[in-house]
Amino acid sequence: MNMNTRNKKEAVVVFSGGQDSTTCLFWALKRYEKVITVSFDYGQRHKKELQCAKEITDELGVEFHVMDMSLLNQLAPNSLTRGDIDVDEEAPEEGAPNSVVDGRNMLFLTFAAVFAKQRGITDLVTGVSQSDFSGYPDCRNVFVKSLETTLSLAMDYTFCIETPLMWIDKGDVWKLADDLGCLNTIREKTLTCYNGIKGEGCGNCPSCKLRREGYEQFLERYRR
Ligand code: ZN
Repeated sequence: MNMNTRNKKEAVVVFSGGQDSTTCLFWALKRYEKVITVSFDYGQRHKKELQCAKEITDELGVEFHVMDMSLLNQLAPNSLTRGDIDVDEEAPEEGAPNSVVDGRNMLFLTFAAVFAKQRGITDLVTGVSQSDFSGYPDCRNVFVKSLETTLSLAMDYTFCIETPLMWIDKGDVWKLADDLGCLNTIREKTLTCYNGIKGEGCGNCPSCKLRREGYEQFLERYRR
């Protein structure tokens, strides 16, 4: 394919096999003729994350690529990448939780953009959310807009970064999954838990707590 062909019928989804990016994958499958997923291997504690991502994409027949990002572990050792550092059970009062790798979303989106351009694709889809900001500055809308401009300038190419979850909270992410007809897939097949347990998870880590609270919000709002 010619490098300069702008292809709006395809999208690259930054995919982790978690709740948010899987919801985004289903969102993209409704909007684009073809969807390609990319995951990043950065030595995360749980290789299960990548296994879940592979299982989900295999089942859907979606193209799946894993990119080596082991550099990230070298740059920013933390609880998500290093087995010898415990994940904070509670979010700290100030600053980011110790599960943050600085600049992670920026790096993922940047590599996804290089990959997309090689295939003549302009649209990138990511599950970042400002409502769910919780200490991750590169999840904010202002950052995503800024990166969209930067990537477009850097590669002289018009990228479009789609963020279907940007303004909705966890309860409405479940609602979106329900509307997209993938609620059970998300409940059973995705991995959000910091302790590497698929579906309902361990129930105790901050990520499991958020997931459960979100599901309860969804039930209260829409299932009475
Ligand atoms: Zn958990």
